[in-house]
Amino acid sequence: MDPVVVVGGGISGVACARVLTDAGVAVTVLDRGRRLGGRMAVRTVDGHPVDTGASYFTVSDDRFGVVVHDWQLRGLAREWTDTFDVFDGSPGQRGEPKQGSMRWASPGGLRSLVEDLAGGLVTEHIAVEAVTRDEHTGILSVDGRPAAAVVLAMPDPQARRVLDPSFESRAELVDEYAPTMALLAGWQRRSWGDGFDGAFINGDPHLTWVADDGARRGDGAPVLVAHATEGLAAAHLAEPAGAEPAMLEALTRLLGIRESPSWSRVHRWSLAHPAGTRERTHHLGDDGIGLCGDSWASTPRVEAAWLSGTELGAALVARLG
Ligand SMILES: Cc1cc2nc3c(=O)[nH]c(=O)nc-3n(C[C@H](O)[C@H](O)[C@H](O)COP(=O)(O)OP(=O)(O)OC[C@H]3O[C@@H](n4cnc5c(N)ncnc54)[C@H](O)[C@@H]3O)c2cc1C
Repeated sequence: MDPVVVVGGGISGVACARVLTDAGVAVTVLDRGRRLGGRMAVRTVDGHPVDTGASYFTVSDDRFGVVVHDWQLRGLAREWTDTFDVFDGSPGQRGEPKQGSMRWASPGGLRSLVEDLAGGLVTEHIAVEAVTRDEHTGILSVDGRPAAAVVLAMPDPQARRVLDPSFESRAELVDEYAPTMALLAGWQRRSWGDGFDGAFINGDPHLTWVADDGARRGDGAPVLVAHATEGLAAAHLAEPAGAEPAMLEALTRLLGIRESPSWSRVHRWSLAHPAGTRERTHHLGDDGIGLCGDSWASTPRVEAAWLSGTELGAALVARLG
């Protein structure tokens, strides 16, 4: 039998491929990035990994808990914090810190967890252009390679670009995604006070969130990562560097930082967060197309993406035997 082809090596695609491989179903993962991980992205600056995409993850599903526990035992994941500050957009104006569920981080950056999950999988780094179906034989094809089934594990707008309109499953790809930008900045020393982990920012025109990257990683590096409002990101999608001065001004103002950073850069996320949510965790059509990812959830996030890929993998194992 032709292998299942999973297009997309973020956590949902890798989780799906993991289930298939463990059940003895041949699978190939194709991802256009140089590394796997998708939006659990990491950039290395001055030898330090910095999380540029997802800030952390939470655990509520027992099955995901088993995976995370294994990462923790092997030192790949760590409990970070359950409490963040709340800024109201003015310097010095802080609301009550907000306590929630435990946020998990990774000393090596969140991408290292996806790469660990992908251990032993067949992966290739190519950008897929078209998923098609032979009109006579009905055989599925991913850029010319035959497939028993094809999984698109990516945001709907990206899946729409590759899935041929003749597939019935294309009608499922209705979601849109909102953009953001991540400002990464490093200083010689930490001047914003020990004990700071991160803050939700309300009412600021430029920033929604800031994380202390050294605190979450556990190495204490004086590095902050701030995320832009959707409005600022949308205005600068064509030239992300144009958003940097406003983001840096807001960050230093809110945290009372007087020194200029030693380095800073902006990373663009054109498709950061799904606009919609779904009740189902995945789609598996009669046309052999599987769809999974973080928009197949009521709360889009890392855990939901893992669950979506895992449940699609189980459905494919049941179908393909
Ligand atoms: C800035 C930001 C902050 C976030 N913060 C949090 C957080 O704090 N907590 C949390 O739980 N979640 C957070 N998230 C969301 C979380 O990152 C996602 O829910 C999760 O990583 C989605 O995984 P996925 O596999 O569904 O999609 P993705 O990670 O987007 O994976 C899709 C993959 O498909 C690949 N791909 C796309 N098109 C093609 C093609 N044509 N050919 C080959 N490969 C292709 C891409 O390269 C990518 O690797 C955040 C996301 C962003 C962007």
